[in-house]
Amino acid sequence: MRRTDERGRWFWETICHDGQQCEKRSLFMSVPESRLGLLIVVSGPSGTGKTTLCRKACAEGGAVFSVSCTTRPPRAGEVDGKDYFFLTEEDFLARVDRGEMFEYARVHNRWYGTLKSYVFDNLRRGVDVLMDIDVQGAAQVRGCEDELVDPCLTDIFVMPPSLEELRARLSGRGTDSPEVVELRLKNAEAEMQHWRDYRYCLVSDTRESDEQRFRAILTAERLRSSLRAR
Ligand code: 5GP
Repeated sequence: MRRTDERGRWFWETICHDGQQCEKRSLFMSVPESRLGLLIVVSGPSGTGKTTLCRKACAEGGAVFSVSCTTRPPRAGEVDGKDYFFLTEEDFLARVDRGEMFEYARVHNRWYGTLKSYVFDNLRRGVDVLMDIDVQGAAQVRGCEDELVDPCLTDIFVMPPSLEELRARLSGRGTDSPEVVELRLKNAEAEMQHWRDYRYCLVSDTRESDEQRFRAILTAERLRSSLRAR
């Protein structure tokens, strides 16, 4: 029978046949209420739908999207501070010099980076953070020596079903010029070599299937004991 002791910790109690308590397990199951946030790094070639997966998971609650800084120009409909912080190259590099970046990388000939403060503040407060970053940035996060990162970190690589399908998706969304689409496809092949560096590899299928499997990963990872304060 599950019982609670005077400090609110729970334990299993075994009752002997004669009705007397004969064993009170010495191993108290003291699981702290508070927990750190989960840091979910998501990478994969442009056009695999990873940003949509991250945004959807955030909309469902319990996690926030890490809004990156970039020096690439905004696409139609993109909002500064919501999709990205759109910075000049000078501003971006000044932030790097001041040590404000958690990670940063040159991707498709532009700078992209994550601000440290937002990620760390949320993890400490127990809020899960989703980072949609490239493979170079993911390697930097894995190599980060801050003791907060290791117990919180998990990573997912979203793999396109094929390069043909990726080309169709990139051209179909109509947000980039044919030259940019070609550059992204070329970079995709190099990025795809890194899938083994990630704990999970999600091969993209239908939107529904991708969302379902992504959600399943988050559900399991949120139960990690390493997130519980010691
Ligand atoms: P896009 O220009 O299509 O929004 O993003 C291009 C690539 O940059 C994507 O693969 C995306 O994951 C990556 N990216 C976006 N933000 C960051 C970031 O903060 N850091 C790094 N390293 N990569 C990022």
